[in-house]
Amino acid sequence: MIERLLKLQENSYVPISKYRTSSIVVTKDGNIFDGVNVENPSFRDGLCAEQNAIVSACSKGYKKGDLSLLYVMTDGSTVSTPCFLCRQVINELFEEDSLVICYNKKGESKIFKVKDLCPFPFGEEDLVW
Ligand SMILES: [Zn+2]
Repeated sequence: MIERLLKLQENSYVPISKYRTSSIVVTKDGNIFDGVNVENPSFRDGLCAEQNAIVSACSKGYKKGDLSLLYVMTDGSTVSTPCFLCRQVINELFEEDSLVICYNKKGESKIFKVKDLCPFPFGEEDLVW
């Protein structure tokens, strides 16, 4: 999976920061969906690799509970974790015990459960008033 993540990073669109990120979603039925970050001069309008991979899976009909694993590779020397916008999306579509495996480009990794990345999630139950 490391080689696939490295190759995928070449597709990142990062004219400003040059900071490449790739992500892969593995579904419970064994399908794989790729995502890369897509930067924009209006920074708020940039898209993260994790969200792109997850949305690709959803575009093919996968729903909450269908996704098994999430891989993320960032460009830095540290092993970075998904941003908090991504964590909200991850929390919505993965189960709390699903694994998120984060790599740097050297192949060093950290593995988290979704519930550890998102200890106090904002969820559907919060929309009750
Ligand atoms: Zn993000």
